[in-house]
Amino acid sequence: MKLKFLGAAEEVGRSCIMVEYEGTRIIMDAGVKIGEEDAYPLLEAADIGSIDGVVISHAHLDHSAYLPHMVSNGYSKPIYSTKPTFELVGILVSDYLKISEPKDVSKDAMAKMLGQFKIVEYQKEFRIGSIGVRLLPAGHILGSAMIELTCGGERLLYSGDVNFRNTKLLEAGYTDNLDAGILVMESTYGGNGDTFPSEHATINGMMASIKETLSAGGKVIMPTFGVGRAQEMLLLLDDYMKSGLLPKAPIYMDGMVNKAMGIHRHNVVYCREELKNRILLNDDDPFKSKNFVKVETAKQRRGIISGEEPCIIVTTSGMLTGGPVLKYVKSLAKVPEDKIIFVGYQAEGTLGRELVNGAKEILIDESRVDVKFKVEKYHLSAHADRQQLLQFVSKVKNLKKVFIIHGEKRKSREFREAIGGKYTTEIPMLGQEVTI
Ligand SMILES: [Zn+2]
Ligand SMILES: [Zn+2]
Repeated sequence: MKLKFLGAAEEVGRSCIMVEYEGTRIIMDAGVKIGEEDAYPLLEAADIGSIDGVVISHAHLDHSAYLPHMVSNGYSKPIYSTKPTFELVGILVSDYLKISEPKDVSKDAMAKMLGQFKIVEYQKEFRIGSIGVRLLPAGHILGSAMIELTCGGERLLYSGDVNFRNTKLLEAGYTDNLDAGILVMESTYGGNGDTFPSEHATINGMMASIKETLSAGGKVIMPTFGVGRAQEMLLLLDDYMKSGLLPKAPIYMDGMVNKAMGIHRHNVVYCREELKNRILLNDDDPFKSKNFVKVETAKQRRGIISGEEPCIIVTTSGMLTGGPVLKYVKSLAKVPEDKIIFVGYQAEGTLGRELVNGAKEILIDESRVDVKFKVEKYHLSAHADRQQLLQFVSKVKNLKKVFIIHGEKRKSREFREAIGGKYTTEIPMLGQEVTI
């Protein structure tokens, strides 16, 4: 078996691993590293035609956005994923193409790409040439999967992005009966000190803070990723409001949050048992809660901004790199009674990071904005923390070798130290090829 790490090596972004076995060549994930200048996997155009299948772990752009590039460069074979991943790729990747306008992507790439998808179910093995493939629930976002490959007598497990805690939406990632000699795993939060406090305490603290702002007549802006965190937050807010722990106020959903909400609703069979039962047995559908109000026009948005009413606004983008959130922040940043609450990672160089770091003045659309509103950040992650990642490693039977990817250099190294000497561990370099 031959492995080639084409991205996400000593970095987070552009996940892409080529696997070759007995004349079959497949790719696991085809992501783009989104940044001031996007970075692509090291996949030679000449190699694209020789690939027999692509398997996508989940819809996040760092795992899926390179697909239209591949299709434009001649990839015409199947792309395998779960049903929710296929649907979420549809909205996330088309949004990426609109914003990034990559030059090597043809106009019809999106439609072609969607046509090449083949939906596969969790747990059911399928074959791409000489390689057996199985997707296992990863608990990270709707439809997310770990990818298990069987190459003759050797088995490889690729974690994709994983979370091993139950969330409002999803069951924890699958850890029963994992059996693989080779593990390729993420290490986003594998560093020293990456042990998360109890999510319950964090959520309670955040809700108390929201309550304080609403009770004082203020507005709360919650910038999030459109897919995953946003739905998680919305269901939490709705629960707290219904139980009286938060005062009644409209929860506005703006941007991609809306479309993604629809996809979550009709894929509820992929959600957590508890949520499924609530909807299917008790007719209690939190996705259709009266507390949620869709924002569909610029006029409606202006009305919310200038209105007196306390409210919560859940909108994209999560790091303030674009999207409707900027319209809200531009006006509401000046209001000391209002508040912005970050619930996700804020990358270096983003406006989100500037605010979290305490900026007193920010630049939006070339105009200076005084920062008077309160800025808070809560750690709620869709990734496993260091402890859970270590537990995950220990649950894989017959494990011999671990490749650590999808993490900042320092974190991957610290995680490797933490695993210790029980297995052979490697942090592959970008472009590195390994024969096993
Ligand atoms: Zn992800
Ligand atoms: Zn990722």
